[in-house]
Amino acid sequence: MTNSDPRTVPTTEQPNNPAYWQQHVDYKMDVNMDVKTFQYTGTQKLKYTNNSPESLTKVFYHLFFNAFQPGSEMDIRLQNIQDPDRRMVNNLGTKENPEYESRIAKLAPDEIGYLHATSLKQDGSEVDFNEEGTILVVNLNNPIAPGETVTFDMEFKGQVPVQIRRSGRNNKDGVALSMTQWYPKMAEYDFEGWHADPYIAREFHGVWGDFDVNITIDKSYLLGGTGVLQNANEIGYGYEDEGTKVKKHKGKTITWNFKAHDVHDFAWAADPEYIHDKLETPSGVTLHFLFKNDPEVVDNWKKIQPKTAELLEFYNKNIGPYPWEQYSVIQGGDGGMEYAMCTLITGGKKYGSLLGTTAHEFAHSWFQQLLGTNESEHPWMDEGFTTFISTLAENKISGDNKANPFENAYKGYQYIVNSGKEQPLTTHGDRYDINAAYSIAAYSKGCIFLSQLGYVIGQDKLMETLHKYYEDFKFKHPTPNDIKRTAEKVSGMELQWYLTDWTETTNTIDYGIKNVSEENGKTTVEMERIGLMPMPVDVMVFYNDGTMEYFYAPLRMMYGEKSNPFEVKRTVLPDWPWAFPTHNFTIDAATSDIKAIVIDPSGLMADIDRSNNTYQPE
Ligand SMILES: [Zn+2]
Repeated sequence: MTNSDPRTVPTTEQPNNPAYWQQHVDYKMDVNMDVKTFQYTGTQKLKYTNNSPESLTKVFYHLFFNAFQPGSEMDIRLQNIQDPDRRMVNNLGTKENPEYESRIAKLAPDEIGYLHATSLKQDGSEVDFNEEGTILVVNLNNPIAPGETVTFDMEFKGQVPVQIRRSGRNNKDGVALSMTQWYPKMAEYDFEGWHADPYIAREFHGVWGDFDVNITIDKSYLLGGTGVLQNANEIGYGYEDEGTKVKKHKGKTITWNFKAHDVHDFAWAADPEYIHDKLETPSGVTLHFLFKNDPEVVDNWKKIQPKTAELLEFYNKNIGPYPWEQYSVIQGGDGGMEYAMCTLITGGKKYGSLLGTTAHEFAHSWFQQLLGTNESEHPWMDEGFTTFISTLAENKISGDNKANPFENAYKGYQYIVNSGKEQPLTTHGDRYDINAAYSIAAYSKGCIFLSQLGYVIGQDKLMETLHKYYEDFKFKHPTPNDIKRTAEKVSGMELQWYLTDWTETTNTIDYGIKNVSEENGKTTVEMERIGLMPMPVDVMVFYNDGTMEYFYAPLRMMYGEKSNPFEVKRTVLPDWPWAFPTHNFTIDAATSDIKAIVIDPSGLMADIDRSNNTYQPE
């Protein structure tokens, strides 16, 4: 183990909510994969602990692979959404007049995905279950009492779908098996109740626990994924300890044994042609890279290795230490998707996008795998926070050092506001009208939640907030209120208004300079609030002699002030009460001495009309 053993984290420590509890799972699985038919069978022994204060009379499992069948909810949604994910459709029309066909609808019986329970026992006795699409509903014989642990023994069989999205076989990169969302997975039950979301498009929420997984597969296949390989010296393939002589395997198959602690998912990938590189990092975490021996990508997959180590260092420093022993960057999937202790990412023909995707997916190890927010309910907390920190990391590691590296997020947000298609961040990930509205909400508006929080409470307090959020909520399921309370505790400000307006409404921000007048050699500036969303206001006055002066109007309802982010003289104005449409201040200079007056020179406030932010004398 490296920095800290996650198992030593006291699960009773609940800094913000003394009533907090979370369920616990302990999986032991034995799986046999037939690499010719892409079918697999398995047994699963699941010890499930009910830490909730309620007795449970039913439980739900996810059977994600059932989404990849003609007529599934995923298929039908794909056929009805205006802007389907291009990876999941064929375009039978032209670029201008597209006519999309769902790739799922075209899958033949031996190409579809499926996952079925064939038997299920609760503490040794058979229980009834029925499949509802991607969910297995189990009505228990005996309720699970608060504090009780029961054992579910399941036998299951599955078929790996032709790769449509995230998981599958023989994808475009030629990777044989991308095994993500592949096992019967207990749904999460938390203070909101069951999260038995059908698999339609979007992401996941899982139960914290431990995995012990045996995968028996053709011996020519090289595997990577969640967990630490327990029989590395027997398996070899670059996993063995240095200097170990790996014995030749007799028989056709090998059994790989992976163990993972304190994770809420388990993923793996396998291919007979993977190259496997290993990189030890100063922090003690081992990085693994698995990629195809394809001359078009090999160099890029080599180049990202030291950069991934730099990313690890950046995230360790700016959020908190990566707590697991290893992380694997694996060619597979499509685009990129985060899993526990690994990511599956596609391609590698373009170095920049390979590095960018790696930076993003690796950051999810913190914002999702460690700070386990519900991705279906609050996609902005994983995609947005990940975008925020990976953008910062890339800006530093690439040497770009842009003053506002988040510019694209602000542009995206502005675009969706102007389009009239914006939906609030409280929308369930699957139920945005169009995919673009989801993406911009989750990635861009979620990123701005943090970058703009830096504008409100100050950059120093923002970074302190991330550290405290990590400390207080690692290995838990933080909610929107938790990040807000953390920022409140760190900054001493009241921030409910920020969470409410930014995440629960589509209220927009628009502050402007309404009028500038001069009397007795002094200049009076009348500022105006046009948008509904409240904000504190930074105003910079640029003088003709090259000097600057900063005026700061805190928002009354935040009951606090940030420290001065600029290296110039600051005047703190009286608080601006939100209900007041205007707010005035006076500059001790003639208007003729002023070159410009600018609201929010940092550009970190997501003001939807910046044309009224600047005043320049004629
Ligand atoms: Zn992401």
